[in-house]
Amino acid sequence: MSKIIFITGGVMSGIGKGVATASLGKILQSYGFSVSAMKIDPYVNVDAGTMNPTEHGEVFVTEDGLECDQDIGNYERFLNKNLHRVDYMTTGSIYQALIQKERNLEFGGKCVEVVPHVPEEVISRIQKSQRINKADIMLVEIGGTIGEYQNLLFLEAARILRQRHLHYPKDVLFVMVSYLPIPAMIGEMKTKPTQYAVRSLNSAGIQPDIILARSALPLDKVRKQKLSFALNLHEEDIISAPDIKSIYEVPVNFEKDQLGAIVLRKLGLKKKETDLKDWKRLVKTIQRPSKQPVKIGVVGKYFASGSFSLADSYISVIESLKHASWFHGREPVLSWLDVEKYEKRPTLLKELKEYDGIVVPGGFGTRGVEGKIRVIEYCRRAKIPYFGLCYGMQLAVVEFARHVAKMDRAHTEEINPKTPYPVIHILPEQEKLLSSKNYGGSMRLGLYDCAIKDGTIAKRSYKTARIKERHRHRYEVNSKFLPRLEKRGLIVSGINPQRKLVEIIELRDHPFFVGVQFHPEFLSRPLNPHPLFREFIRAAIKTKK
Ligand code: GLN
Repeated sequence: MSKIIFITGGVMSGIGKGVATASLGKILQSYGFSVSAMKIDPYVNVDAGTMNPTEHGEVFVTEDGLECDQDIGNYERFLNKNLHRVDYMTTGSIYQALIQKERNLEFGGKCVEVVPHVPEEVISRIQKSQRINKADIMLVEIGGTIGEYQNLLFLEAARILRQRHLHYPKDVLFVMVSYLPIPAMIGEMKTKPTQYAVRSLNSAGIQPDIILARSALPLDKVRKQKLSFALNLHEEDIISAPDIKSIYEVPVNFEKDQLGAIVLRKLGLKKKETDLKDWKRLVKTIQRPSKQPVKIGVVGKYFASGSFSLADSYISVIESLKHASWFHGREPVLSWLDVEKYEKRPTLLKELKEYDGIVVPGGFGTRGVEGKIRVIEYCRRAKIPYFGLCYGMQLAVVEFARHVAKMDRAHTEEINPKTPYPVIHILPEQEKLLSSKNYGGSMRLGLYDCAIKDGTIAKRSYKTARIKERHRHRYEVNSKFLPRLEKRGLIVSGINPQRKLVEIIELRDHPFFVGVQFHPEFLSRPLNPHPLFREFIRAAIKTKK
């Protein structure tokens, strides 16, 4: 069975627990161990699919179609590994399963209680993930902050697991990612909040083995001594984790304090190899890109409001653009363009010329739609490289229908069900789901096949005739209108062979105009950028010249 490392967070949220978890995984991989990662979210939502991106950040989709937290995306990108349903749970999913079992009389008439039944259900999920992944080491990130009411039952599950391994103390470890503030009026790094956070964890019956000390600056010797004394830890078990420019530097930074060696020693493992070379090379490119920057505009509407910013709402898109830019040795300069301003003041569209490429990512609903269509029209006419993802593809078809194929008032049924030209219409199976208000986890989700047409940008990018990509949508291109659209020059370069659904469209006589029904951003990896993002950035660089 894999060894388990629980990762908890202290003091406050938003300090990069997910990236710290992913980075620890990367380091352990580089020493020759297989690593899996699991995220526990304390929400009552059964999955992340019903949460607005401005509330919770991007909804990530696994290849088996689970809508989950963006941290799963971080794990996938760092570990270069596909994760699955078994690697994610929420409070809602735990209760849903328990209540279902109770309804099915699976408790044999017993009284079902919060303790032990909730922690036991959590443990059984962890063990299931362990069995399926068969990794040497399994990371389990417990969402939320220590001291919160909502993650207590997950901590209890972790404590019980450790208790069951009392004779094997090297099989279960606890890492706490904490924060040391440097208040401006004091100008000194303070350890007290971390001390209290560890005490709170202690009161849940858990002693951390390692502290990852996040702060604006590196931790000094005095702070390490102080924490070591107060927390019953060796100084070396307190790892300095200062702010850095790019998340991809985190593993390299952790290694400065020998995190990998310390964790392996605690787990009773000996390193098999050391291979962080390619990763370190990437970090060098990030720190010192050799060539001119490439300027990309991301047009969206999920802007800062609530606790998450635009960067969180579109994190996989943004990371994919970065991976592709670094591949070409360029620094990515990304701007967030609020689509609603182009609706209010179309004269502003001219500013799109300042960008080497424009992306319209996925989205839902009416707000901002006409602005997106204007942006797409502008990119098409001004020959600015354009990459449309999901909604960005559907609206490109709407734009083409309206302005090139002369289908006046063409639209997607999502916005105007009465349009004379429903060029984007609802998937038949989705109609029933919507009318019965069955919204959760019911879209066309996860991996589907796509056959690529020869002689297209898609073929040039993928260099293969068959691909699989991840989806999350209810609407699709209406094949009834395809002959008319194709006659006017729309190219369908990717099609789902089983159901004949349009997956990729593109235009000729344009440096790069591509729309995809799927979400390529979920498959891009730092050392292996997604082919379409790679070619989009290549076109952007070329246009710039
Ligand atoms: N709203 C569109 C649909 O449901 C696009 C979804 C998306 O961009 N993820 O089909």
